[in-house]
Amino acid sequence: MKTGIVFHELYLWHHTGNHADYVPYGFPVEPFHHSESPDTKRRIKNLMEVSGLYDRLLPIVPRKATKEEILFFHTENHYEHIRSLNDSISVNAGISAPTGIGSFDIALLSTGGVIEAIDRVIDGEVDNAYALVRPPGHHAMPNKAMGFCLFGNAAIAGKYALQKKGLNKIAFVDWDVHHGNGTQTAFYKDSNALTISIHQDRNFPTNSGFISENGEGNGSGYNINIPLPPGSGVGAYEAAFDRVVIPALEAYKPDLIIVPSGFDGGAGDPIGRQMMTSEGFRSLTKKLMLSAEEICNGKILMTHEGGYSAATVPFLAHAVIETLAQEDMGIKDPFQNIIGNLGQQELQPHQDKLISEVENLLKNIK
Ligand SMILES: [Zn+2]
Repeated sequence: MKTGIVFHELYLWHHTGNHADYVPYGFPVEPFHHSESPDTKRRIKNLMEVSGLYDRLLPIVPRKATKEEILFFHTENHYEHIRSLNDSISVNAGISAPTGIGSFDIALLSTGGVIEAIDRVIDGEVDNAYALVRPPGHHAMPNKAMGFCLFGNAAIAGKYALQKKGLNKIAFVDWDVHHGNGTQTAFYKDSNALTISIHQDRNFPTNSGFISENGEGNGSGYNINIPLPPGSGVGAYEAAFDRVVIPALEAYKPDLIIVPSGFDGGAGDPIGRQMMTSEGFRSLTKKLMLSAEEICNGKILMTHEGGYSAATVPFLAHAVIETLAQEDMGIKDPFQNIIGNLGQQELQPHQDKLISEVENLLKNIK
């Protein structure tokens, strides 16, 4: 299996300024650090290096996305707004979207990295790829930076695949613990993209991600939200995949699957309340790969989103990327035993009920 990896040191230089988690410091908030820090990303890269996994992957060198590419999804206003902040220290570019010096350039490199990866996957130079990029993208709206996201990396790469690479149908499976509201917006009226988001009910944003948001116009039926209750574990995620995600992909038959991949659904995440484990993420990845093999010649692109527990996230990501590459580096996740045995890891009745409601949407996919 040839798996591409996108990474660049500059991704870690995007500076989110001084906050206490996502709240700006200032009396009565003591200065601390921002949730969206380089730590998790750096430690994912480091773990892959020490395990030897990184050497089994094909490095994909990122480039800056062009203005034309950013405008596949965003307004010119938004592009110019982010550009105008490029020399500013610690500014909030929108709704909870801190930037620092050079953040515009780094955000272009983040989006461009995802585009380079999608090129390689579509052209068959790699079987699949993981874009370990930063800043993340799935909350960014056409005219608004939001939720730590400046440009919609996955949405833009998807538009690029449809408009520049001649693909007819793409599907998104967003497993970040937060709703992929930006990606949903990008394709809400479009039947050329099936957007699926599996997230914690009303975590962020708190006013979107509902089952009732099922697409509009030509896109009617092609947006699926699975707002799992807080406390959902591996059983709930696997059931959601078996009963909704995989059947939806099989009904839709996309040419490519894009996974906005956040690991804030992992147990212990400071801003998520789910209980996923590395073995849980490995299992979801296997399910996706099996399905992709049938549907789209295995073509999967994962692009990094959230995940804020610097200690545990590297093991979650390692399990996923190792699975994509069909490698076994012999790395045991030291957290697996404890969080894998937490109470209610198995599917609970209220989670089962929610998933049953979402199953009703499958009939809307033509
Ligand atoms: Zn998230």
